[in-house]
Amino acid sequence: MPVSGLPPYDDTNIFARILRGEIPCRRVFEDEHVLAFHDINPQAPVHVLVIPKGAYCSWADFSARATDAEIAGFVRAVGRIARDLGHETDGYRLLANVGVNSGQEVPHFHIHLFAGRPLGPMLA
Ligand code: 5GP
Repeated sequence: MPVSGLPPYDDTNIFARILRGEIPCRRVFEDEHVLAFHDINPQAPVHVLVIPKGAYCSWADFSARATDAEIAGFVRAVGRIARDLGHETDGYRLLANVGVNSGQEVPHFHIHLFAGRPLGPMLA
């Protein structure tokens, strides 16, 4: 069931196609709940996208509908990926665009993980 006020999940989006193996990606990590891969248009030396395997449009949808196991698996995977990439010490930034005002392009929930240089102040 879609969350009230959110559009239904569109399974033709690019990340759904990556999950189905229809489009290649440079994979960083995968387990039962999560896939992580390099962004095609990196904005930092390290720019990884972490996505749940379940069909969720955005953080709003994921946080409302995902199971506790999916949420815990996702959160732990993001931490593990940052650690495995070697950026626990020098730091990194996590960002999730949600909906129209954020400019979210791909309607499958994802976290951007940026690292590898000083990332500057947050933009509003
Ligand atoms: P959003 O604006 O939705 O938060 O970010 C979507 C991100 O997906 C962008 O950073 C964009 O570069 C990335 N992206 C779009 N299409 C592809 C693709 O086909 N492969 C990969 N690896 N990244 C993509």
